[in-house]
Amino acid sequence: MHLRKRVLVTGGAGFLGSFLCERLLQEHCDVICVDNFYTGTKRNILHLLDNPYFELVRHDITFPLYVEVDEIYNLACPASPVHYQNDPVQTTKVNVHGSINMLGLAKRLKAKILQASTSEVYGDPTVHPQTEDYWGNVNSIGIRSCYDEGKRCAETLFFDYYRQHQVNIRVVRIFNTYGPRMHPNDGRVVSNFIAQALTARDITVFGQGCQTRSFCYVDDLIEGLIRMMNGPDEFTGPVNMGNPNEFTILELAQKIIALTGSPSKIVFKPLPQDDPIQRQPNISLARQRLGWEPQTQLEEGLRRTIAYFKTIL
Ligand code: NAD
Ligand code: UDP
Repeated sequence: MHLRKRVLVTGGAGFLGSFLCERLLQEHCDVICVDNFYTGTKRNILHLLDNPYFELVRHDITFPLYVEVDEIYNLACPASPVHYQNDPVQTTKVNVHGSINMLGLAKRLKAKILQASTSEVYGDPTVHPQTEDYWGNVNSIGIRSCYDEGKRCAETLFFDYYRQHQVNIRVVRIFNTYGPRMHPNDGRVVSNFIAQALTARDITVFGQGCQTRSFCYVDDLIEGLIRMMNGPDEFTGPVNMGNPNEFTILELAQKIIALTGSPSKIVFKPLPQDDPIQRQPNISLARQRLGWEPQTQLEEGLRRTIAYFKTIL
């Protein structure tokens, strides 16, 4: 008889995973954090290590894992383009082999399992804003494909395990999320711009900066993941989660310069291959089925993120 819900978080030492572990502990869960520290760090979870209900396991989920839990949040996968393109074969492996291992575990344990999918399954979208029924526009052989196609295959595996083995699944398509504990060198736009602004280096805008993204603050996203896991079993998703307020990358750079009072100048660099031109989630489904929507506006979220970066730079 287990009084506490036992929850496995893969990628638990990463940016999103560390906040999720923290939140689950607040909700009196027994948390197992599995991570191979590819992009995550112990620093993200140092403050949890003394908690007797928190357990850290160094493990690569492309290899089988034997633990006993009631729920699995599958977040293990590098999320920044710079990192996932650094070892693209491993990126596909973590999404495919890693998902098979975690789904196999869920099947044996009859555990609920949630997949951290991504807006990248829509590729460079021709439908705007993106709804869950849009099948996407993805290059299968480009430099982003290891991540995009890896995550698409993971979704396929989740739905095949659901249909073939009745595994209790949840699939969340996460749109650009930012906040404290992003790695300062991880290459994602918010962390890059804040680190550049605070150290008075040039702000590197790729292309003309007219491509758009919609930025969700981490606390809002974590609330969404928890609601999805606790929601009705028949609501498998896929469900979009993100903040529908859309900005150009140039607007983001200007906002960060203003909020930091930085002397940094904006410089323009070549746009990377297959960089999506626009991205904005349609979150009607999450609103209807989970009563979820983001609460934190970009300026407020950026202020909190800047405050964190000031402590580490
Ligand atoms: P992150 O890189 O900070 O975290 C990923 C974590 O997974 C790291 O701690 C890393 O060490 C770990 N990991 C990688 N490969 C592993 C392996 N083989 N075995 C065990 N652990 C492994 O990224 P994040 O932003 O926290 O993203 C978490 C998840 O959410 C990822 O699956 C990502 O694809 C997804 N996601 C994030 C965003 C976002 O904007 N942050 C958007 C869409 C999807
Ligand atoms: N970007 C930029 N400068 C940077 C880093 C990123 O202009 O230093 C742009 C990038 O080309 C993309 C957007 O910001 O258009 C978001 O990039 P990120 O890597 O954060 O995530 P993506 O949404 O592309 O996966």
